[in-house]
Parts: sequence; structure tokens; C-alpha cells
Amino acid sequence: MSQKRIAIFGSTGSIGTQALDVIAANPDLFTAEILTAQTNDELLITQALKFNPNMVVIGDEKKYLIVKEALSHTEIKVFSGEKALEEVAAMDCYDMMLAGIVGYAGLKPTLRAIEIGKAVGLANKETLVVAGDIIMRKAMEKRIPVIPVDSEHSAIFQCLVGEGRNKIEKIILTASGGPFLGKKPNFLVNVKKDHALQHPNWSMGAKITIDSATLMNKGLEMIEAKWLFNLTYDQIQVVVHPQSIIHSMVQFEDGSIKAQMGLPDMKLPIQYAMAFPQRIANDFPRYDFRKPGTLSFEEPDIKTFRNLALAMEAMKQGGNMPCVLNAANEIAVYAFLRNRIGFLDMTEVVEQSMAKIPFIPHPTLEEYFETDGEARNFAASLIHM
Ligand code: NAD
Ligand code: MG
Repeated sequence: MSQKRIAIFGSTGSIGTQALDVIAANPDLFTAEILTAQTNDELLITQALKFNPNMVVIGDEKKYLIVKEALSHTEIKVFSGEKALEEVAAMDCYDMMLAGIVGYAGLKPTLRAIEIGKAVGLANKETLVVAGDIIMRKAMEKRIPVIPVDSEHSAIFQCLVGEGRNKIEKIILTASGGPFLGKKPNFLVNVKKDHALQHPNWSMGAKITIDSATLMNKGLEMIEAKWLFNLTYDQIQVVVHPQSIIHSMVQFEDGSIKAQMGLPDMKLPIQYAMAFPQRIANDFPRYDFRKPGTLSFEEPDIKTFRNLALAMEAMKQGGNMPCVLNAANEIAVYAFLRNRIGFLDMTEVVEQSMAKIPFIPHPTLEEYFETDGEARNFAASLIHM
């Protein structure tokens, strides 16, 4: 494999730092050419000095001079602001974007990368939740691969390698169940952010950790899977598997089921996406079937974890409804993280936003942007932020 030049969008996050670990471990295979961060100037500077990229972007314009000054003795170009993310995504200096920004903010730069024909390793699931039809259509037009980084979708992608046109009967998305598996509303009503931020199996950014606790993450992942693998609503099943060893499964039309397994470690799907179709040797810990242990499975409790039911509903309705769900959820999660609303209030905010924002069956990109803005404003008005 020739050396691949990677652009890491969101390099200071959980995905971004692990992607840099993969690059550091495989310097003959990868270089980091673009690094971007929203606020963490210190880490961005450290990363830039270590990996010597072509350019960096610091989202927060107040930090531009700090970063510029710290890198002034290098050749590294420094940009700042939201627009710069899209401009840099259109540059020629890289081969693959690793889309590791969290939330709606990742949509425009990712779209830009696809438009100019760059391969994308996609961690930022919100991009597909908001505008999956447009993203996948553009990727088809440009004949560029969108390779999932999300562990469940990487699992499905890996199960499909070599299957050609063989039909999928359904996919089985596994869910850990999060820290509150088995709990009921009378418990959840009192949950505070410190408890919700403790995920049993994965260490991730704050937003996705809260989404995992509410099961919204699995709802977003159903919508992500729909677009990535061109599936219908009834072809996607969620199963709770608390050990997170089976990362997801595909059932084909002959009834045969393939699973991809391993210990939970995001570096594996990250390096798989970056090196695809090659696999890279590593010394990550291995799962050992000889050790006593159980792999268990159960149905998700969507009566308690209503966010998952709302995401299913949004997916069934289609149009701009998943975009509304996502925008309202982002507002709700950040309000919860600031102790402004309770755990169960997050669901209320999403549900009321879905009822309020006008439905558009076939939105244009512009209408997705407008829907996002409207849903955010309405959700924020419910919280009085
Ligand atoms: P994180 O919060 O740890 O990192 C987010 C990154 O995005 C940071 O580098 C931050 O600077 C940047 N960022 C945040 N807001 C921004 C904005 N408005 N504009 C530009 N950049 C911004 O998040 P994470 O856990 O690394 O998750 C990143 C994405 O990957 C999310 O979409 C998440 O759902 C997905 N994902 C993460 C994991 C995981 O293990 N962390 C697993 C599967 C999928
Ligand atoms: Mg996942």
C-alpha cells in the first residue's frame, strides 16, 4: 500500500486522538496532512508539532493567534473559523478525510470532501442522520467510498466484503445498553451527568456517551445504517448485547448470519477504514474464547428508553424528520451536560420538536440547513437557554 495522506477533522477528540495513535504506529502507511480542532489549542499545537501536517484549523477564532504564534517556526499553515473547515476540506493535500467532528458541525466539511472526490472514513454519524440521501448520492456520483468508522457499521461493512450482490435480509445492530441497562423511569428521572458519562465498555466524547446512555446513539446508528447499506426500516434490528464483543451482524437471504467480533477498541475500526481493503497487524489485546464468559442478548426496552422509539419513528417518516431529531437532540444533550435539564427531559425536547417542525418529505440541502436551524431554535426555546 502506498502512503496514504489523512486529513483528521476533529483531531483533538476521542476518535481524532485514536486516529493519530494509528498513524503514529504506522508511519510508513499514513501521514497526517490536516488537523482540526474547535477549542483545544494546546492539544492541536502539540499534535501539529509531532505530526508536522500541511495545515491546521482552529475553529475558535479567538485562539488563532496563539496557534499561529506557536507554529510560526514551522511550515504549517494555520486557519481559523467555521468557513475554513470547508475550505481546507477542498484542498488537494490529502487522500482521505477521517470525519471525526462531533454533531451537525461535521456535515459541511464532509460534504465538501465528497464533492471534490476524496475518500471518507466516517465517524461523524450525524452527517448521515441529517442528510444521508444527499451524502450517499454525491458519493455514488463521485464514485468515492464512504467507509464507516462507527464500530457497528464497520462490523457490517466487514461482513459484506466479498458478498457482491448477495442480498441482505436484515442487519442486527448490537447495543451495549449503556450504563442504565435494566433501569426504569423512576430511576432515570434522577440521573445526573456524572453518572451518565460513565460508559461500561467504551471511552468516548461527552455527546456520544450521553447518547449511549439514552439509547439515542442506537437510533442515530439505525439511520446511519439505512443510508450506508441502502436498507429499509424493517431490515434493521437492534439487539442489546452488554459485553460489546459482537460489533454487529448481517443476515443474508439464505438465513446465514455473519458477525464481526473482537474486544471493544475504536482503534480497530479506525485503522480498518484508513487502510481498507488491507488489514494491518497490531498488538491490541485479543478476545479469548477459552476464558469463562457469556455473550448475552436481549431486546431493547424502548418503552423506557423512548429516544430509540423516537429515532425509529423519525426514520420511518424520513424526509427532514431525522434532521429535526438530531438538532433537537444536540440541544437537549448539551443542556443536560450543563445541568439545565434532567435525563428524561431530553426525550421531551426531541419529541416536542418532532411534533412542531413542519415536515418536508424530500428536502433540498438548503432545506436541511433551515430545518436544523428551526429545530435548534425551537428546542432551545423549550429549555429557556
Ligand atoms: P469528541 O467530543 O471527543 O471530539 C469531537 C471533535 O470535534 C474535537 O476534535 C472537537 O474539537 C471537534 N469539534 C467539536 N465541535 C466542533 C465544531 N462545532 N466545529 C468543528 N469541530 C468541532 O467526540 P468523539 O467521541 O471523538 O466523536 C466524534 C464523532 O465520532 C461523533 O459523531 C461520534 O458520534 C462518532 N463516534 C465516536 C466514537 C467514539 O468512540 N468516540 C465511536 C463511534 C462514533
Ligand atoms: Mg457505534
